[in-house]
Amino acid sequence: MGLESALQPLRASLRGALLLPGQPGYEEARKIHNAMIDRHPAMIVRCAGVADVTTAVTFARSQGMLVSVRGAGHNVAGTSLCDGGMVIDLSEMKGIRVNPAARTVRAEPGVTWAELAHELQTFGLAATGGYVGTTGVGGLTLGGGMGWMLRKHGLALDNLLSADVVTADARLLIADSREHSDLFWAIRGGGGNFGIVTSFEFRVHPAGTVLAGLALHPMSKGRKALEFWREYESTAPEEMTNGALVFTPPPEVPLPEALRSGPVVGIGGVYVGPLEEGEQALRPMREFGPPAADTYQRVPYSAAQSMADFLWPKGRFNYWKSSYLKSFSDGVMEKVLDYYAKAPSPRTVVVLEHNGNSAMSRVPEDATAFGNRNWDYNLLVTAVWTDAADTEDNLRWTREFWSAMRPHLADSAYVNYLGDVEEDSVRAAYGRKYERLAALKNKYDPANFFRMNPNVRPARTESGSAGTA
Ligand SMILES: Cc1cc2nc3c(=O)[nH]c(=O)nc-3n(C[C@H](O)[C@H](O)[C@H](O)COP(=O)(O)OP(=O)(O)OC[C@H]3O[C@@H](n4cnc5c(N)ncnc54)[C@H](O)[C@@H]3O)c2cc1C
Repeated sequence: MGLESALQPLRASLRGALLLPGQPGYEEARKIHNAMIDRHPAMIVRCAGVADVTTAVTFARSQGMLVSVRGAGHNVAGTSLCDGGMVIDLSEMKGIRVNPAARTVRAEPGVTWAELAHELQTFGLAATGGYVGTTGVGGLTLGGGMGWMLRKHGLALDNLLSADVVTADARLLIADSREHSDLFWAIRGGGGNFGIVTSFEFRVHPAGTVLAGLALHPMSKGRKALEFWREYESTAPEEMTNGALVFTPPPEVPLPEALRSGPVVGIGGVYVGPLEEGEQALRPMREFGPPAADTYQRVPYSAAQSMADFLWPKGRFNYWKSSYLKSFSDGVMEKVLDYYAKAPSPRTVVVLEHNGNSAMSRVPEDATAFGNRNWDYNLLVTAVWTDAADTEDNLRWTREFWSAMRPHLADSAYVNYLGDVEEDSVRAAYGRKYERLAALKNKYDPANFFRMNPNVRPARTESGSAGTA
């Protein structure tokens, strides 16, 4: 059956919507977080449940269509959208079921971390999600998942207990430590390469009220603040997951005059644990300088989950570079501060994340497909701007900055922060695990049906086939 004549039966067999170019809802549905990504899929299937997902997979295969899978649409490289093919859009699958007694939660793939935090907060519980609330549970978990409880409880994927996966042949498999354990290994780090996860089950943790905020310093004192922070992190308790941010406060953020005239350096994060002990542990960071402003407060974990959202609103132009650092050296500080001072856009944010001495680094390297747990610091340059006319300047600045950083960068990166998903970057992100992933890709998706992602190509079989694309 040709594509046109097959559309009517497809529409009739879906509980969710089928959006085609020119129809109401299509234009909005093809917008994702990063305004740089402007693609025109032939159709968007807004799935209402697992049946729609299997129907979409079966249909796309029968038509030989390119497919992309969309959760909350945060992937900066734009892997959730394709040109000319089918977008399997999970963003309206938002079921959440908390089991407070077992301290677990089940979430459908359209749920964001803010939504999950909201439901869990009622029970004083929290999930190890991301650092912002608007990101989806799907892509973030399958690629890793660095968030505010990373040092105490590990990555989001370290807290994944089980997943329901629709594979390329439209079967629904349960993957956990007992059933399809090889698939369970692969999806914990291997992203969307192995199938579409329609339900995630996570272990969650007591959190309740936490201490969250930043100590803010003007750029003139930024170097001293970063040096202090490096020293502070060497003994910071695991209850604390911190970062350093170089950014320009947007005008709507109420700050003292000293911080209104340009970029600032913020150090801080979230402490999840006994509050009195947290106040004690935080005191040096809140006193150093002293900071020009201190935003630390006691807040529900769900508020901490969204406290950084204002820095990355939807619909701006984004170009990202990221890598683990060989070390957080003086040279790194110098270059970060020098280059930020020349950034063409005040909406750009440079993030330094501390992952060391943590539950994340204690998980054995081979336990999951996630690559490279042993680097203490991660660098993320998020060039963000609001006017398309400024694109060239921002791309040039980011590339120059990145090239100046090269001597300081480890040879590996976090796959979810990659601004491009070319084969070399993906291989470097997975390191020696790439070959094992490629063999599993051959088992679960030999035709490389799921290839709009940081793609692991199926290993060559003895007959010589290595999938398409
Ligand atoms: C503003 C911003 C902040 C971020 N902050 C963090 C952070 O704090 N910590 C962190 O670790 N990362 C962070 N990221 C990176 C984030 O983890 C990735 O962008 C991730 O891909 C987002 O997942 P998503 O579901 O929202 O994205 P989407 O773009 O919808 O999905 C990305 C890809 O993941 C795969 N995928 C998504 N859902 C499924 C599913 N259910 N089944 C199978 N495959 C699926 C698909 O291949 C898809 O193309 C951030 C990104 C942005 C833009």
